[in-house]
Amino acid sequence: MTPPTAEPLFGPPPHRPPDETAARHFPMTRAEMDALGWDSCDVIIVTGDAYVDLPSFGMAVMGRVLQKAGFRVGIIAQPDWHSAEDFRRLGAPNLFFGVTAGNMDSMVNHYTSERKIRSNDSYTPGGLAGKRPNHAVLVYAQRSREAFKGVPVIIGGIEASLRRIAHYDYWSDKVRRSVLPDSKADLLVYGNGERQILAIARRLAAGEAVGTITDLRGTAYMRRGLPAGFTELDASNLEQSLQPFADRDHSVVRLPAYDEVLKDEILYAHASRTMHLETNPGNARALVQRHGDRDVWLNPPPVPLTSEEMDAVFDLPYTRVPHPAYGRQKIPAYDMIKNSINIMRGCFGGCTFCSITEHEGRIIQNRSEESILREIENIRDKTPGFTGVISDLGGPTANMWRLACKSPQIEAACRKPSCVFPDICPNLNTDHSPLIQLYRKARQVPGIKRVFVASGVRYDLAVESPEYVAELAEHHVGGYLKIAPEHTENRPLSMMMKPGIGSYERFKRMFEKASRAAGKKQYLIPYFIAAHPGTTDRDMLNLALWLKQNRFRPDQVQTFLPS
Ligand code: SF4
Repeated sequence: MTPPTAEPLFGPPPHRPPDETAARHFPMTRAEMDALGWDSCDVIIVTGDAYVDLPSFGMAVMGRVLQKAGFRVGIIAQPDWHSAEDFRRLGAPNLFFGVTAGNMDSMVNHYTSERKIRSNDSYTPGGLAGKRPNHAVLVYAQRSREAFKGVPVIIGGIEASLRRIAHYDYWSDKVRRSVLPDSKADLLVYGNGERQILAIARRLAAGEAVGTITDLRGTAYMRRGLPAGFTELDASNLEQSLQPFADRDHSVVRLPAYDEVLKDEILYAHASRTMHLETNPGNARALVQRHGDRDVWLNPPPVPLTSEEMDAVFDLPYTRVPHPAYGRQKIPAYDMIKNSINIMRGCFGGCTFCSITEHEGRIIQNRSEESILREIENIRDKTPGFTGVISDLGGPTANMWRLACKSPQIEAACRKPSCVFPDICPNLNTDHSPLIQLYRKARQVPGIKRVFVASGVRYDLAVESPEYVAELAEHHVGGYLKIAPEHTENRPLSMMMKPGIGSYERFKRMFEKASRAAGKKQYLIPYFIAAHPGTTDRDMLNLALWLKQNRFRPDQVQTFLPS
């Protein structure tokens, strides 16, 4: 099967010349727009987070990408949602409101897994809680619509992406509808959004009506009936089996309706499983799910960014600091992330409790070595108070950079939910040497004293490369390495699609040996999940015994939070 391709991200000519969109920080007030000589913005991004101009913050990435393509971008960060007034702050956008809850789902941001209200918010100046509503994407979308009727509203970000079909909401203990009909947005962007947001902006700028943008990968919209030429494959009940290689471009898979998954947990699980089967951009089909008398129609996932495109996104002129309006107030998430570098996106692990694959997909999107090293220099040169320590060189997983299926054709045809469960697929290239080289070069950048790896190490992959474990232990661990075996018992581990505890123990032996060889006293801190679905009291008892035998005392206990 041929891997899917897409128009290059910045291929088409820019909408406006660069000097018309130049903005060191995107404006958050009318006065800033006036200073730039703008009478209007093309796109206004509404977000639940404080505006930080760093590639770890969604609004900054989308803003810079749109700016590079020649659009004027304004940002409304953490608006007062009690009326539409604050949403009128920058006037009406020429093209659309882009609405996101922020980097976290607003319910995860607000509540602990015990459903207690959190007292702080890391994405807010001063760490203050209460600056965003529950279900922020719904509230912001409705207020944006109210502010300027007739302006298209596009929702995206993690909250919209993970709530794109009927979904279980832990906090209300209910199955909720897709956020698309309830937000009344015109389009929902899911997954990494660069391709979609640029295509939407360009098509609207060319005069197309938002209602006709129905063919864009990585988006969802509401419709009635099938488009001409499409065949419906019924997966709305358990008996129905799909023909895996039916004409994918013109077939759509019908999931069980919202009304059915609301009442029947088996059908709910079936809908979720079917959606996960359709996440490989190489062979995924469109999905539909009935909500009342309309369907939520999900086009297949976006085509992953190439390394050149990833570099182009990360090389955009981020200022790497919060908007000056925040003054000296601390934004905890910024302080935590400002010296860390994301080297890739996606994860092929497929762990059932994790949202990365559902959001970013399981094809790894790699930055080039040069781009990563450039960002280290940028941090060194631009980040106030930088002391020479890179706090993390990682990503969704520390050690999947440059790992992939050995054949793009096989990868495009593959329907497996994981490349590493139940065992490492023989087609997976597990060569860690490019990553080892990257670590070595990162340490040699002038002005850099230490480079830590704080992202989760996939230890079942790491043990395939003793040289990697040695490099990690000798140079990139600050005394403790957090690692996530998640459980000790095979039953819950198999439900999580995680390897057995033997794999962790093998890594532990290698890590300890490498640490001794490096003359370092350092330890693994294992993380476990309590109360994952399918876990019994006996499983938890055995886990407790394992901890005791291994002389661990739990530092913090948090039950599983399904989000
Ligand atoms: S490595 Fe194996 S599981 Fe992963 S995409 Fe290739 S064939 Fe599929």
